[in-house]
Amino acid sequence: MTKLFISHIINSANKEGGIILINLSKFLSSNDLSLNINEIFQIEDKNFLEKTHLDNNIYFKGSFFKVEDDVLLNGIVKYTYSEECARCLTEFNNAIETKFEAVVVNYLENKEASNEIKLVLNEGCVELEETIKQLIYLSMPMKALCKEDCKGICPTCGANLNNEKCKCDNNLTDPRFDKLKDLLND
Ligand SMILES: [Zn+2]
Ligand SMILES: [Zn+2]
Repeated sequence: MTKLFISHIINSANKEGGIILINLSKFLSSNDLSLNINEIFQIEDKNFLEKTHLDNNIYFKGSFFKVEDDVLLNGIVKYTYSEECARCLTEFNNAIETKFEAVVVNYLENKEASNEIKLVLNEGCVELEETIKQLIYLSMPMKALCKEDCKGICPTCGANLNNEKCKCDNNLTDPRFDKLKDLLND
């Protein structure tokens, strides 16, 4: 899909609010069964960016499908944010990818308890920013490691054990377990 076409269907209706609008009217009135979107967009909500330490370039890839009377969206959101490693406390950029599905609806029905993500069609457009912000919140890990085998920091001297070896004796095992080992070995 060419860049030109993309900028035609996605437009930042309100630069201040950074609203991400996707215009589906052409797709809906066509005989096409699917519409693919592949775009990098910016979240400009400063509050959100500060809270999440998010890089404001968000990669969005999605396909809208006509399925009988419904229009469904299969999407992937990729983002990076700066995080402190839970083990070595080093700042690093954590890249997250999260998949989601949504249904395009004409209006929201009251009292409808469902986990489905709904995108309300408004003058042929759907707005994605709120949905994407929620997905980002939900997919951010509570704890993250700079790498899977991060060695952490030495509890005695504070050395980053990924970069250096220290000479501290950090044998913190409970002596009772040593006794148990001896018993098991006997
Ligand atoms: Zn680390
Ligand atoms: Zn040490």
